[in-house]
Order: sequence, then C-alpha cells, then structure tokens
Amino acid sequence: MKKVIAANWKNNCSKDFINKYFSFFNANIKINQKSKKEIIFFPPDLYLDLVSQSIKDLSGINYGCQNLNINEDNTTLTGGSTSAMLEDMNCDYVIIGHSETRENEFNKSLKSKILLCKKMNIIFCVGENSLERQNNQTLKKIFSQLDELIESYFDNMSIIIAYEPVWAIGSGETPTLSNISQTHESIKKYIIQKLPSIKENDIIVLYGGSVTEKNASSILKTDFVDGVLVGGASLMAEEFTKICNIEF
Ligand code: PEP
Repeated sequence: MKKVIAANWKNNCSKDFINKYFSFFNANIKINQKSKKEIIFFPPDLYLDLVSQSIKDLSGINYGCQNLNINEDNTTLTGGSTSAMLEDMNCDYVIIGHSETRENEFNKSLKSKILLCKKMNIIFCVGENSLERQNNQTLKKIFSQLDELIESYFDNMSIIIAYEPVWAIGSGETPTLSNISQTHESIKKYIIQKLPSIKENDIIVLYGGSVTEKNASSILKTDFVDGVLVGGASLMAEEFTKICNIEF
C-alpha cells in the first residue's frame, strides 16, 4: 500500500515562502510513477492557486484545504470558503475535524461538512487530549469521533483518518511506536466492525503530532501506519523533503 505524507502549513505562508520552498522541493524531491507514496500540501486557502502552480509534477503530489466553512441554516457567511469554491480550486483533499478547529464545531456541523465533500477526499482527524490520555479514555474518545464520520458515510467515500493526539501536536512529544500501532489497528478494526463492506486495505490511517525528520522513518515503518500528517516540520522545505524522500 502507498504511504501518504501530508504537510499542514496551518496559517503560515507568503508568496516569497512558496517560491523559495518549491524551488528547493522541486529540485530535490524523489518521486516517480512507481513511487509508492503520495505527497499532499495543505496551504492556507489564499495560497492554493500559487501552490497548485508551483507543484512541479502533479503525479503523486497533490494539494488540499485545511477546512471548509458551512452555515447550518444556509445563510451567508462573511469570510467563508465553501466546498464548491474549494472544489473549484481543484482541491483533491480537505482536512475535517482538526483539533485546532474542532473546539468551535458541533458534531452536526462536522457531519454536514462530510456530506458536502463529493469531489474532495476527506482527511478526518481524531485524537485524545492529555486528560483523556491520563484517564485511559483514548479509544473511547477516538471511537466517538469516528462515529461522526461513520454516521455520514456515503458510497465510494475514501476513508482517510489522521490520528493526532492533541497533546502531541506541536509539543515535541509522541506516543511510543507500539502505542501508535495499536491505536491505528483499533481504528481500522472499529471502522470495519461498523461498516462491514469496507476492507482493511481501503482504510488509510495517518499519524500526526510532532513528526520530524528524526522520527518520521520509524513512524512510517510502523505496522498499521499508512502515512504521516506533518505540521511544524513541513514548513522547512529541506526537512519536509527529507521526510518525503524516505525509502520504504
Ligand atoms: C498538526 O497540527 O496537524 C500537526 C501534526 O502539527 P505538528 O506536526 O507541528 O505537531
């Protein structure tokens, strides 16, 4: 199965940053038709167009948006980016339910967002916070978040989960490799149990939270890990390119 390596740039970007970033990345990335990997960039919406123009070879390198906006009652929303607009920008992917945006979202809005994504593949984020971790509530929390996705499942939807423990994001801490592996396995088993038509190979589970050039190789080689979602380290072209060039 291919590995997915995704860069979440959050609210960091400029035209100059993109130009410098891709002049390094495009010159050093090792990817071809046979590579068993897919690289996905998630820039801020304002820079989607420039990123799409800057990506050298679209085969195996894609881009998407970090969220989408909806208004439950169908009224207007100043400053919002709708799924139709993001699909018009040819986004291949959308991140839904990142812990940095979840706080302001209700279960109902997450489900509505999922149902709006007919052309973009969803990367659905789940993960426990430090209190839930201390109280051994990790899987309980993750399963309740997975239910949001499962309840909105529609035919042919690709299932891509990012397991991002909230306490690991930007902290320099990560779970042990065996914890990551067990959690990913549990995520896959839970989805299959709830959606028996789905096969294990159809479920992609990425790990996210303090992935760096130093730990990426061992995380990517861990059982049940299908890729990584990288925040801070993806902002450094050299470091992210090294992560993308890891051989499996
Ligand atoms: C993230 O916020 O999605 C993330 C993985 O961040 P970091 O890699 O910086 O922990």
